[in-house]
Amino acid sequence: MLIDSHAHLEMSPFDRDRDQVIRRAKEAGVEIIVTVGTTVEDCRRALEISRRYPGVYAVIGIHPHEVKDIKGATYDSLREMANQEKVVAYGEIGLDFFRNLSPRAMQIRRFGEQLELAAELNLPVVIHDRDAHRETMDLLKGWNGGRRGVIHCFSGDYPMAKQCIDLGFCISIPGTVTFEKNEKLRSIVRDLPLESLLVETDCPYLTPNPFRGRRNEPAYVVHTARRVAEIKGRPFVEVAAVTTANAKRVFNIP
Ligand SMILES: [Zn+2]
Ligand SMILES: [Zn+2]
Repeated sequence: MLIDSHAHLEMSPFDRDRDQVIRRAKEAGVEIIVTVGTTVEDCRRALEISRRYPGVYAVIGIHPHEVKDIKGATYDSLREMANQEKVVAYGEIGLDFFRNLSPRAMQIRRFGEQLELAAELNLPVVIHDRDAHRETMDLLKGWNGGRRGVIHCFSGDYPMAKQCIDLGFCISIPGTVTFEKNEKLRSIVRDLPLESLLVETDCPYLTPNPFRGRRNEPAYVVHTARRVAEIKGRPFVEVAAVTTANAKRVFNIP
């Protein structure tokens, strides 16, 4: 059994065949999918989907790209949603200084506010960090919340990964670990303890090899886990079992 720790099943690329996508994941052994909202509307959709499918859980929060649209009522809506049964974390929140779809200063302010909200709601966090490693670490180190959570789609270096783990976070490995050029991520995977790793698709994005170029979907997390097993020289079943246990622990999934 595997857990896709970060998917976006609520997004429109899955509108036509969501049932089949979730069925294919099950058939591939991916029994649990954590689907992550990025706007208030998408968080609602993520919640609806989690209610409809037993193996699907929801994460709610406002993505750094979208924080420019946060309004007075946004956090109240999120507070309401957070009470629902299948919500397992707050996110994805963080900083994206690669695309800068919201101004940087605003991203930093909203990240801080949402870390506080996660602490208030007593939820672990899902962190998005792209080209903002230093600022992300500053905020995470200064945060007084539970320090439970995941750095999703990890793109930093080994010292940063080690710091995150020492703070209490897990590191989630995406399909880019299968890309020929990504020796950097493979060397990080080699050096980190399996007990701190999760695997994810971030679908519909970041499709792993051998399907790169197509739409990504949760079933393909198998290829990522297989690659992690190869890198670590451990049996696939062990990597599946340990990453599943890690994800269940972080998200408090029974
Ligand atoms: Zn992300
Ligand atoms: Zn994402």
